[in-house]
Amino acid sequence: MAINTDAPGPHLSIVVPMYNEAPNVEPVVQSLTEALRDYPRTVEIILVDDGSSDDTWDRIERAVCQVPLRGIRLGCNGGQTAALMAGFDQARGRVIVAMDGDLQNDPRDIPALVAMLEEGYDLVCGWRVGRRDQLIRRKIPSWCANRLIQWVTGVPIRDNGCSLKAYRRELVERLSLYSDQHRFIPALAASFGSRIGQMPVRHHARRFGESKYGLSRTAKVLVDLVTLKMVTTFRTRPLRGFGLLLVPWAALAVASGLLWAVALTQFRPEKSGALVFATMTMLWISLTLYLLVLGLIAEVVVSTELDTAQRTPTVWEVS
Ligand code: UDP
Ligand code: MG
Repeated sequence: MAINTDAPGPHLSIVVPMYNEAPNVEPVVQSLTEALRDYPRTVEIILVDDGSSDDTWDRIERAVCQVPLRGIRLGCNGGQTAALMAGFDQARGRVIVAMDGDLQNDPRDIPALVAMLEEGYDLVCGWRVGRRDQLIRRKIPSWCANRLIQWVTGVPIRDNGCSLKAYRRELVERLSLYSDQHRFIPALAASFGSRIGQMPVRHHARRFGESKYGLSRTAKVLVDLVTLKMVTTFRTRPLRGFGLLLVPWAALAVASGLLWAVALTQFRPEKSGALVFATMTMLWISLTLYLLVLGLIAEVVVSTELDTAQRTPTVWEVS
């Protein structure tokens, strides 16, 4: 491996987010350097300290003195997605690989991931075979989340939660992620027409430190999934999304309008009873108009704010 810290444009950048991973810094650096010792292209390693409160940063600084790598220290704990984005911003490689900083991913898989990417993919996702995590707190929620993500996004990725992925630089430049959206990268990438490959990768039990997530992550994933569906499906034409939402209310408005007409003509002694249908009709019409106006406003915002590059599909080939 030719480790590169100064010359512009290494071939491969490896981004590793770390939050309170002090005991893992040295083993991660060691296993990365060992795994990539004979790698024939230039490599840069970027360790991102995501506002740790333990001495992760001291360990990174110490490692920087011994091995040529780059450390980035974030001002506060922004979460794994933010740490990943900070690393992507600094990465200079044509190919970027992300992995966890707790050695659950195995750096020995990196050359094969990159080789597969170079066969003509924009993104290659690892999927963890023989996953070494707890069954109830990890594997089952993750299995359900993967099914749900597949069903909602229509993108058949087996293991969205595996951080070990190889990206073509052009794809990384298009990603602007927030919240916990790193799990939805394949779905977002698919929404701009990226070619996505999958490869089985190794997975190990955590040896040092502890996991940063509990079961509450599942709820967050669900909320983010709704946002993602909205963003990927209606990003360019929000009016269509609002249009779909207003259909049931418009149908109710028509139905209660008809009932109003029937009541006015059929109710004999107390026609005032028909007013309930009038009120319902007004309510459903107001809701329909409200959604329509929201859709129009969103359409105006999107057409002025969204830059054209965000709407253009990925270019596959130029001849
Ligand atoms: N991580 C981070 N910021 C956070 C939470 C996690 O950078 O706020 C990092 C963490 O240090 C690890 C990776 O994200 O390198 C995955 O986290 P973890 O191992 O806790 O997740 P799990 O493997 O349990 O799903
Ligand atoms: Mg982990």
